[in-house]
Amino acid sequence: MPEGDVVWRTAQRLNTALAGQELLSGDLRWPSLAAADLSGRTVVEVVSAGKHLLCRTAAAGGAPLTLHSHLRMEGSWHVHATGAPWRTARAAHAVRAVLVTARWTAVGHRLGMLDLVPTDQEHRLVGHLGPDVLGPGWDPQRALENLRADPDRAVGEALLDQRVLAGVGTFFMAEALFVRGVTPWTPVRDVPDPAGLVALVHRMLDTCRHEVAQSTTGDPRPGRRQWVHARSGQPCHRCGTTVRVAMVGRAPQDRTAFYCPRCQRGPAPTDTGLPQRPLGSAPRAGGRRTAHRSPR
Ligand SMILES: [Zn+2]
Repeated sequence: MPEGDVVWRTAQRLNTALAGQELLSGDLRWPSLAAADLSGRTVVEVVSAGKHLLCRTAAAGGAPLTLHSHLRMEGSWHVHATGAPWRTARAAHAVRAVLVTARWTAVGHRLGMLDLVPTDQEHRLVGHLGPDVLGPGWDPQRALENLRADPDRAVGEALLDQRVLAGVGTFFMAEALFVRGVTPWTPVRDVPDPAGLVALVHRMLDTCRHEVAQSTTGDPRPGRRQWVHARSGQPCHRCGTTVRVAMVGRAPQDRTAFYCPRCQRGPAPTDTGLPQRPLGSAPRAGGRRTAHRSPR
């Protein structure tokens, strides 16, 4: 799932291609926007806000409008030379937006949200967000205050809450908490040096925004780029213990959290004493009973 670094890079790419250019057409394949006409508008800029994309447009004699999109789970934007065939294997039926300028054509695939609002109404879509980790106005102090506002909340759940800080998904949540040595289920009040955690999250996203292959370990080799994320059932790079995964947060907003039970201190779902088989791992040999986390 795209996180703040990928969305920031997408905004940069779209901005480079579209800013200052007139839209020859703007085809929005979205039920509520079928009648919208963006042709003749000039793209002012494309920026990211957390995991949201804002394409701001202006028109002579018309109000500024913002095309808002969100990539959700598997959305993406691609830029092709106008008139050239789209060199992509992506399904045509998944196209949700096509913005055409004389030189470049931007195509939005599998977008999770698409809205068109007056630019002075953007706050209706992104006003709820906490400080944008990669935004020009990044405010670590406010992010820290937001994090501390609910001291009983699991820190993994808090980091994923875009109202606390904007741009973090399950990848950076798991990686940052591994590096800080606390489990995602640790209550915020028990996290040592939460300001250091906020600073680390910013540093990780800031580093990764310039890299095509996200790496939090500093090692670019496939399979070595991350500490624990998506590595359940595999040995921890640091201690060799099997990396585990369980859910954090309350359903239906609960999300997967990967962690090393040895390198990270604090509560974990396995603290019930029941052995747990991590997703992606083989059942234990020897007939010992394994169980997934019991529902609560
Ligand atoms: Zn470990």
